[in-house]
Amino acid sequence: MSEKQNPFAMAQAQLDKTAEILELDPATHAFLRKPMRELRVTIPVRMDDGSIKIFDGFRVQYNDALGPTKGGIRWHPQETINTVRALAAWMTWKCAIVDIPYGGGKGGIIVNPKELSMGEQERLARGYIRSIGEFIGPERDIPAPDVYTTPQIMAWMMDEFSKLRGYNVPGVITGKPVRVGGSLGRNDATARGGMYVLREAAKVKGIDLSKATVAVQGFGNAGQYAHELTTKLFGSKVVAISDSRGGIYNPNGLDFEACAKYKKETGSVIGFPGSKEISNEDLLELNVDVLVPAALEEALTADNAGNVKAKLILELANGPTTPEADAIFHKNGNLVLPDFLANAGGVTVSYFEWVQNVSGYYWTLDEVYERLDKKMTKAFQDFYETYQAYKVDPRTAAYLVSVKRVVEAMKLRGWV
Ligand code: NAD
Repeated sequence: MSEKQNPFAMAQAQLDKTAEILELDPATHAFLRKPMRELRVTIPVRMDDGSIKIFDGFRVQYNDALGPTKGGIRWHPQETINTVRALAAWMTWKCAIVDIPYGGGKGGIIVNPKELSMGEQERLARGYIRSIGEFIGPERDIPAPDVYTTPQIMAWMMDEFSKLRGYNVPGVITGKPVRVGGSLGRNDATARGGMYVLREAAKVKGIDLSKATVAVQGFGNAGQYAHELTTKLFGSKVVAISDSRGGIYNPNGLDFEACAKYKKETGSVIGFPGSKEISNEDLLELNVDVLVPAALEEALTADNAGNVKAKLILELANGPTTPEADAIFHKNGNLVLPDFLANAGGVTVSYFEWVQNVSGYYWTLDEVYERLDKKMTKAFQDFYETYQAYKVDPRTAAYLVSVKRVVEAMKLRGWV
């Protein structure tokens, strides 16, 4: 989404379109257009120089019809309540599509963490939890990491919440380090979940992934694992990758380990031996079977969608495709695997972490993978069934699945 757009208005517009198709009654629609609860907090933090600085924070609980709300905490200098509301709405649809018993929530603090020492970050994390402590909890609202928040920050937050309660409460927050209740398999969960969706999509499109070529935009957390796993799980050939400096291409394939090592040493993928330099724009239009946008919002627009040749577009990034591009892809037959389905592996393993925390019994890595596979496979099947039944674009199909589930729970509870 561009900075000019109000992200919450965008989230509401997407809901409106879905409500129209489902012919939702006005009260149900109105209920879903707004968060159920919002909290704004002011957090005083003692800085290293002895002064006190005041930070503003938010926590939004969008809808808890399906279960306690769930969603990350973002630390960002440009954080706004509307961004948090939009992200909380999207979390509602994301949890619903993978059918985990959670509603959607999100939190944020207006801060540039790069300007804070570790001690200041810890005091901010603890101060935020003291401010929202009454509002969250394993049965109420379960935060997690997001932009600029780390497993270490989650550990401090869990510790502060446990101090408030007077006993250990690991299930209050997910994305913790494994030693303090984190789950195995969290690191690559987003990309791995995306791989299971890709595998199912390839089956219905008749694409043999062992012979497929892949281009990945963004060589960060999500993109690097996507490169590694498409090769490792399916034997696909990743022919192009990119980062903020540009892209590289080799029709014979790019070796993951070597690329990751090169990126670590030089700070970029550019100049990787044996590759040809290409622009990020060129990468999107390459003649490949699978395109994985794993970097930014609005990478695929009305300007380039018509030139995209990939049959499958796996959206690991949030919001990489504009509504105009969606329409073009739908018309041209490129199957978009929408973000809140394709990148739901992260929240699914977060849910597994919470299950392990509240039951006090911890799973092996293979158990995590197996259960993730089942969840993502089922989510794809539910999505694809609706996509075929309604003959709408894939993103709208994903919305239909999720909104229907939330509405059903609201009706069963007698809210609407
Ligand atoms: P990251 O910061 O680790 O990586 C982002 C990568 O994109 C970096 O390599 C960066 O160089 C590259 N990049 C920046 N500008 C670019 C440009 N113009 N063209 C090409 N590449 C560019 O972030 P991440 O965690 O991998 O997240 C990437 C996307 O995936 C985001 O949209 C994020 O919301 C989404 N996502 C990530 C996760 C996760 O678990 N990491 C979960 C859900 C969604």
